[in-house]
Amino acid sequence: MTDTTTTFPTTAEITADVLRALKATGVDPDAVAGDTEVRTPITGDVIFRVRTSTRDDIDTAVATAAEAFTTWRDIPAPVRGQLVKRWGQLLTEHKEDLGALVTAEVGKVTSEALGEVQEMIDITDLAVGQSRQLYGKTMPSERPGHRLAETWHPLGVVGVISAFNFPVAVYSWNTALALICGNSVVWKPAEATPLTALATDALLARAAEDVGAPAGLHHVVISDRTGGEQLVNDTRVALVSATGSVRMGREIAPQIAARFGRALLELGGNNGAVVTASADLDLALRGIVFSAAGTAGQRCTTLRRLIVHADVADHLVPRIVDAYGTLTIGAPTNDGVLVGPLIDRQSFENQQAALAQAQQEGGEVLYGGDRVLIDDAPDAYYVQPAVVQMPEQSDVVQAETFAPILYVLTYQTLEEAIALHNAVPQGLSSAIFTNDQAEAETFLSAGGSDCGIVNVNIGTSGAEIGGAFGGEKETGGGRESGSDSWKTYMRQATNTINFSGELPLAQGVKFL
Ligand code: NAD
Repeated sequence: MTDTTTTFPTTAEITADVLRALKATGVDPDAVAGDTEVRTPITGDVIFRVRTSTRDDIDTAVATAAEAFTTWRDIPAPVRGQLVKRWGQLLTEHKEDLGALVTAEVGKVTSEALGEVQEMIDITDLAVGQSRQLYGKTMPSERPGHRLAETWHPLGVVGVISAFNFPVAVYSWNTALALICGNSVVWKPAEATPLTALATDALLARAAEDVGAPAGLHHVVISDRTGGEQLVNDTRVALVSATGSVRMGREIAPQIAARFGRALLELGGNNGAVVTASADLDLALRGIVFSAAGTAGQRCTTLRRLIVHADVADHLVPRIVDAYGTLTIGAPTNDGVLVGPLIDRQSFENQQAALAQAQQEGGEVLYGGDRVLIDDAPDAYYVQPAVVQMPEQSDVVQAETFAPILYVLTYQTLEEAIALHNAVPQGLSSAIFTNDQAEAETFLSAGGSDCGIVNVNIGTSGAEIGGAFGGEKETGGGRESGSDSWKTYMRQATNTINFSGELPLAQGVKFL
């Protein structure tokens, strides 16, 4: 339902709040002003004009970062952790400012925008602890008087290319770990989110100054994809960590491979949840609706495919439709609103095209899909999240449409459900709702879900930073955030140390 209880913010009010948040985080709006329009999806209007980085600016950023790396790599990792610790303190102090910028540029409802900033704070905590735990193994040598060990060293300049829908969380997953590992960072944020990026970078600059970190350690470059292409093709950028569409990954992966650079790819998802006949349907309902309609369907982990047992479909699906009818759609700044706008008109058109295709392929729209027009904001794109019953697997279900559409498919056997689940090119996040341990374990086993994230009795979205985050197949295979993802930002050296005074060769080889 449309939010009619509160007044809709004007573009002037949003702009004023953005300028306030920029100043509070240490960005001088005049210093970053230029010609490139920045729009808010809340009203669809221009809220700022930002200066775009030139090729030379980006070249200088990489050169300076490469120079700073030579100092930073020699600073002990726990001391490097102090920079990230200070950054985390400043992020905590400015949580609301950054949250306001995320809402203004992406249209996330306030609690989700604040949640994204909390994710930044959480990863700084993790990274500070990790800075004392860059463990290498020691192995027994086959030769007497020898020791075998591994050490981990930083890579150099890490180029981060980020997507619009998580404008700061994914960047901080990369940057907090890259920095404690001893790297420098050059960041190319998404076209839609330059202001959030400038504010985040300003807080990191303040932290760097407070702890006396070397100048030039981190940079943000404001650009369209051409800036990303420049980082991709710059041999001084040791690791390119890129988050975005499969299309983008398909373009950049061969370019990075051609120069033997390293790539960390976090690409599109097409996430499914299986609901078995034994599931707690109340719990499943809440998990499904948050994952499918939250963030207006604009998460990489958004639930897009519901694979429900035929025996419970008639009990569950009408309840999902009813719950969708209660979701309040409106300005993301207003209390009680759960579904904000799509990022732009293109996104809306993609949703409409996918719904038309679904119907051509035999689908029946059970709920939603209509545009919600806001009187004072004709250029903003609010939509009702859609639920579509599909007769079977079809082309439209194979694709990630970055808008809220939940396709429903039914199944009879768990084997069939798993086959349906895995029959898409992407492999990011998955879930099973069940109260049967054998069903859960089957889904978690090697022959179960083929995704990087496999959940039981919880939806597909809303991961914690402690685990490694990423997906398989067209999602790109990268892992970020917790667990041992830090190793992606380092290179491994194996050391053999001989203290025997002799020179025995391995495998008993005799020579000289
Ligand atoms: P996008 O691919 O259009 O753009 C992402 C970033 O890549 C932007 O900064 C863009 O400028 C840059 N870019 C695009 N083409 C490039 C090229 N050829 N060379 C270098 N840089 C290039 O994606 P988007 O619309 O901003 O974000 C939505 C997509 O991101 C969805 O597919 C979503 O699933 C995915 N995503 C994935 C994850 C994940 O962790 N797997 C997280 C968030 C978003």
